[in-house]
Parts: sequence; structure tokens; C-alpha cells
Amino acid sequence: MKPSLWLTRLFVIGGLALSWALFAPEASLQRAGNELLGLATPQPAVAEEKEIPVSPTKVSQRPRDTYFPNTEDLKPDEMRVIACGTGMPTTRAAQAAACFLVELGNGDKFLFDIGSGSAERISSLQIPYNYLDKVFIGHLHTDHFGALHDLFIGGAIMGRNVPLRVWGPSGPSPELGTAHALDGMMQMLTWDLAGRAGMIDFRGFELEVNEFDYKGENAVIYDENGVTIRSFPAIHSIDGPVSFVLEWNGLKFAFSSDTYPNKWFVEYAKDADIAIHECFIAVPSLVSKMRFTPESALMVGTQIHTAPEAFGKVMSEITPRMAVAYHFFKDYDTTGEVFERIRSTYDGPLSLAEDFMVWNVSKDEITERLAVVEDRTWSPPLARPAMPPNMADRKTFSEKTGVPEEAIGYSEFIESGTLDVDDVLRPIYKEASEAVGRDFPYPADEKENEGE
Ligand SMILES: [Zn+2]
Ligand SMILES: [Zn+2]
Repeated sequence: MKPSLWLTRLFVIGGLALSWALFAPEASLQRAGNELLGLATPQPAVAEEKEIPVSPTKVSQRPRDTYFPNTEDLKPDEMRVIACGTGMPTTRAAQAAACFLVELGNGDKFLFDIGSGSAERISSLQIPYNYLDKVFIGHLHTDHFGALHDLFIGGAIMGRNVPLRVWGPSGPSPELGTAHALDGMMQMLTWDLAGRAGMIDFRGFELEVNEFDYKGENAVIYDENGVTIRSFPAIHSIDGPVSFVLEWNGLKFAFSSDTYPNKWFVEYAKDADIAIHECFIAVPSLVSKMRFTPESALMVGTQIHTAPEAFGKVMSEITPRMAVAYHFFKDYDTTGEVFERIRSTYDGPLSLAEDFMVWNVSKDEITERLAVVEDRTWSPPLARPAMPPNMADRKTFSEKTGVPEEAIGYSEFIESGTLDVDDVLRPIYKEASEAVGRDFPYPADEKENEGE
């Protein structure tokens, strides 16, 4: 062996000896200390050769860091909360406005707020629409109910064949209550609905409105199937807004909708497993990015809404297992600002919400992930078979709304404008009849037969 190699070996051995000498005294001191205290001597950390359960060809069994809708069962005692909107009234592609979906292990699902843009988020979860039939609205700002008509109409087209049930607060006058707002929505939809009656399974185009007293303090507004939902006043803009608490199976979900910090939330959301509370954009960003004047930024950012520092104060009071802050544009240059301001008053578990954040809540643990969804979703599976269209729906619609029945359809004037394309459409009916094995008569031919 060459001397140089010997030298190298000496250095290596010497180096090992030196590092052992550096660590050994501490280790032996610890051992002696542990013996004195009667504690078991900790074993040195040695990497053991174990069989690692990964395969180059098989699916890895490790828990996913990402939630893929429709790939996981909900356990019987588990709650899953999905953010379907965490943004603002000023719409943006990256964040829909307020909407949180709560799914329970007993099969019940609830939507809390349904702000502008949230219907697309909901559809991308591919949940049968019969299961999305309960909506709780905290107040009547569009960023909290602006997508209700999308869920109402689009949900029925995508397979909901049960009524949509909506709960919302009364107001300081009848015109400021939920019933008035939804009456107006139904009026707005008169033409939309008239144009669908008789064309499609019409059972889902039914709205059930449950208006409750906004002054109720922890009042039960829903109690079915082991699920209790209570409401209590929120302080926001003018009288009317409320917050909610849902309790089921020993788990408690709290949702503020919008509010200035208030005593009711502190009392009734206390010790929630998951507490979602609004947390507004910090005042400097309201000025620099939202182009507010400093006066408006201070007013809106601290007096109408909950500033991040105040959000932290609320959460320090109620000590939830998970605090969720939403209602700010969450970008690379705003997240730190909001986070640090919250941390000046709260040091507990915290999520800064963005769309498609998912929390699995059980008594043992709460996990937080992001969902990865497909953008190009179609209708989800049906929970109950669809019915073919029924022309009698036009008569019922006419009676209900006062729209003359003869106005639901085409006038002679409009019909006179149709091009004759029967020769290309008739084969489509023939094709369908052959494919399904049932006769679908061509409408124009039917009409002719009727006329005979
Ligand atoms: Zn609001
Ligand atoms: Zn809002």
C-alpha cells in the first residue's frame, strides 16, 4: 500500500475518532443522568434496513397530501369541510366568494353561504345534486348568496329532482329579509323557468324558503337526522346578518359569514372543532391593491369587517381546534401580511383559507389539504332517476306565477321564422329510437297526426 493511501486512511479513522470523541461525552453523561433518573437509556438512532412499502408499479398506500373528490369514503364519525369560495364581492378567477360545504358521515351535506362564482367550485366536486339541497345564508350580500340562482337552476339541470331548501335571516323590515330577496330571485327567473317547463324533469325547480329571526340567540333553526344548526346575530353593515353553528356527533362547526367581532360568536362558537370566521384584507393592501381611500380602507377594513388582528383576538377567546380565516384575496404578497397580523394576537392552529381547501375533522384529528379537481366536469351521477318532460308542468307554472299558459311556448309569429330542417333532425329521433329500443315520435309528425 502506498504511503499516501495510509495517510488518507489515517485521516478518515482519525476523523471518525474525533467526531465520536466530540459526541461521546454528552452521550455518556446523558446515559448516566438517565440511570440516575431511572429512565430507559435512549437507543442511538441507527437506520435499520426495513422493507419499504413502495413499488415502482403499484399504487402507493401512503396517505395522500391532496384530496381528489370521489376517491375517499367519509367515515361514519367524520366531518369534511370544503372551501368552495373564500374571496370577495369583487370577483376573480382564483377565488370565488364565500361558500363552505360541510359533509357529514351520516350522509347529510350543507352549504353555508353561496357567494358569486361558488357554483362552479361546487360542480367540480361531482356530488349528486340531490345531496346539495340545503343552503344556509348568513346575509344577503352578493358575495354570500350571488350564486344561489346558479345552484337553483344549474343544479336542477344537472340532476337535482328534489326542491332546493334555503335558510336565511329576517331583516329589520320585511323588504330586508331572505324571503323578500328570494321572492325577487324567483321573479327574476320567471322567463328562465317558463322556458324550461315541459322541456325537462321539472321537479328540482322548486324553492323552499325558511326565513328565521335574525335576532335569535343560539336559536335552533334546523334539527333533523341528529344535526342541529343554530343561528345568532352578526354585526355587519346593517341589521340582519347572522352566523351559524352546526353540531353533529360531538363535532362542532362554526361559520361567521361576515361580522365585526362580537360577543355572540365568542360565546356560541366557543371550543368549536373548526371555526371559520371572516378575516378581511389588511388596511395597507386595501389602499395599495384595492385602490380604496385611506378613509374607506379604515372604515371597511376595521369597522364593517374583522381585521386580521381582531380575528386573532376572537380565536384566542374561543380556542377552536382549527381556526380558519377567509374573506381576503390570498396571494403571495398578502398572505404574509395577514398571517403576521393574526399571529400578533393568536398562536393556535390556523388555516388561511383558499378555494378548494379541505379539512377532515374527527374527534382524533383534523387534517388540512387542498383538493385537486377537474375543470371540465359534467353532471354527476343521479341520486334518483330522472323523469321525462311533462307538458302539464306549463299549466302548473302558469297557475303558480300568473303567466298566461298560452304565453309559454312560441307564437305563430316566431314559429313562422323556423327553417325546415326536419329532414336532418328526423333521423336523430330514428337513431335514438333504435339505440334505446323505444319509439320517440318526431314532434312535427306528432303535431300533424294530432291535426288529422
Ligand atoms: Zn357582507
Ligand atoms: Zn362578504
